[in-house]
Amino acid sequence: MKILVSNVGSTSLKFKLYDMPAERVLCEARIELVGSRDAAIHTYKNCLTGHSQRDTGCCIPTYTEGIKLFLADMCGEQGVMSDMGEIAAVGFKTVLAKGFYGVHELTDEVLEGMRAYLKVAPAHNGPYLEAIKRFRRLMPGARMVGVFETAFHTTIPPERSLYAVPYEWYEEYGIKRMGYHGASHSYVAETLTGVYGSTGRTVSCHLGGSCSLCAIEDGKSVDTSFGFSLQTGVMHANRCGDLDAYVPLFLMSQGMKKAELLDGLSRRGGLLGISGVSNDMRYVEAAAGQGSGRAALAIDMFVNQIVKYAGAFAAEMGGLDNIVFTGGIGENSSQVRSRVCRALAFLGLELDEEANAAAGGDIRAISAAHSAVRALVIPANEELGIARRTYELLNPGN
Ligand code: ADP
Repeated sequence: MKILVSNVGSTSLKFKLYDMPAERVLCEARIELVGSRDAAIHTYKNCLTGHSQRDTGCCIPTYTEGIKLFLADMCGEQGVMSDMGEIAAVGFKTVLAKGFYGVHELTDEVLEGMRAYLKVAPAHNGPYLEAIKRFRRLMPGARMVGVFETAFHTTIPPERSLYAVPYEWYEEYGIKRMGYHGASHSYVAETLTGVYGSTGRTVSCHLGGSCSLCAIEDGKSVDTSFGFSLQTGVMHANRCGDLDAYVPLFLMSQGMKKAELLDGLSRRGGLLGISGVSNDMRYVEAAAGQGSGRAALAIDMFVNQIVKYAGAFAAEMGGLDNIVFTGGIGENSSQVRSRVCRALAFLGLELDEEANAAAGGDIRAISAAHSAVRALVIPANEELGIARRTYELLNPGN
């Protein structure tokens, strides 16, 4: 069964076509700068033959042209099939819908739920709603499935997911800790189970442009650093992370307008806001290395927040068996991993500095052989997580 996984950004579209349940990637494509009349970038790879191409200067004013381009790639000369009717379903890494927190066929009702929470995840729900509408039109024969980023976290018990606000806020507006990065953390849980037989008590750290930690016990999410919106938890590339709810109220009382406040919290905060250098850890690390005090402070804060959540999760789970690093920073920054692991030495975690400094590859252990806590790097593969969940929805019981 062919399942297309689509990752939609505000100006980008990423596609991966899977043959399921074999989990074989048939082809993949990426379109950047959607919305541009003559500057978009389009890459396509046929994973069966190895053929790859890259076009720049394309005209892709809307998602429709981007999707059409990919459909033409897949069914063209360098394609992997003759008719797009072979695609059984499109799986989307959708973020949030009111009342629908798991894996759902994207019916009008579910789309309405996404619209209801447009204000909570504007950078994600807006583009997804738009792209799904266009996919539905272009591929009427395929089933549209939303693997919501909240899905993995529906197992978090209420004493950890509720805020101490008037209970009716939860009942009426659904205010609670949602948790995101579900596709990534569930992939970590499945990989650990596949390799070691179980997850035991694991802290999974997804550190990329967005960052979150997830406490995983016996394969299930039991807590997460992400709260109601994607603005919460540990600091992100541009977003502030956890913040006293009274700070925005106070700033507004001082005359700050909502737009300025939102800009500060979601675009000018995080690594960028503190370092003043960049939202990209590579540049922040380089600046700190050259003596920038603010860049060094940004890294200190980043590491501290990760350690704090990891420690809290270890306490909730009554100990720790594994800590996993994934995402762009988690996979590439040996400095962040080393500092986090050294701070968690009190749990019996001993890092193998040499293994930690070594680059790349697949799943790899970075802790010493006798360490009481295993530390691992697992490269993120959210698309495969989406393909698996979509396949399961279409083939219940398999
Ligand atoms: P996203 O969350 O947007 O999907 P990624 O998971 O790919 O992004 O992470 C991208 C981030 O990873 C970059 O913004 C940068 O901070 C970080 N990163 C990438 N490569 C390195 C590196 N070699 N060293 C440190 N950080 C890196």
